[in-house]
Amino acid sequence: MKNMSRFEFRRKGYIEIEELKELGLIPPSERLVKGPVAILECPEEIPCNICIAFCPTKAIKMERIIDLPRIEWDKCTGCGMCVAVCPGLAAFVVDLSKPDADYVTLPYELLPPPRKGDRVILLNRRGERVGEGEVVRVWERNKTFIVTVKTPKGLGMEVRSIWIERK
Ligand code: SF4
Ligand code: SF4
Repeated sequence: MKNMSRFEFRRKGYIEIEELKELGLIPPSERLVKGPVAILECPEEIPCNICIAFCPTKAIKMERIIDLPRIEWDKCTGCGMCVAVCPGLAAFVVDLSKPDADYVTLPYELLPPPRKGDRVILLNRRGERVGEGEVVRVWERNKTFIVTVKTPKGLGMEVRSIWIERK
């Protein structure tokens, strides 16, 4: 178990990518550029393992129910099921493999849901605007919308939420 007292995310209310890396929750760069892969931004030792039960390739592991979920990166197909079922809205899929854009799949639970083709504001983990993107896919499971957005190249590891400006 890591000494969590030196991590700042509890005090700040958001987690930094450096903290996720230190917790072993970020895939290695060779895997990130291969194709879609899940990232579980789940740093707290809480009694939850729903993502394990729903992962179709059994890519997610945990020894005790309060452990942090660990992904066997090469077993992950980027299907997005963990994004759909995570009650903490902590699961994402990123695809950094394309030369001209990155793709981020994220959960969305506001109404109305985004639609394919929508232009949306891209927000980082702090809730700050970092650019604009395009919704390329939306599906729904139990009132959670699973949204894939195309982002400018380089933003795939930053964008974790979207804002829809309805005119
Ligand atoms: S994206 Fe799909 S295959 Fe990958 S960890 Fe999530 S549920 Fe499993
Ligand atoms: S379902 Fe979400 S909150 Fe629960 S262990 Fe998996 S990533 Fe963490």
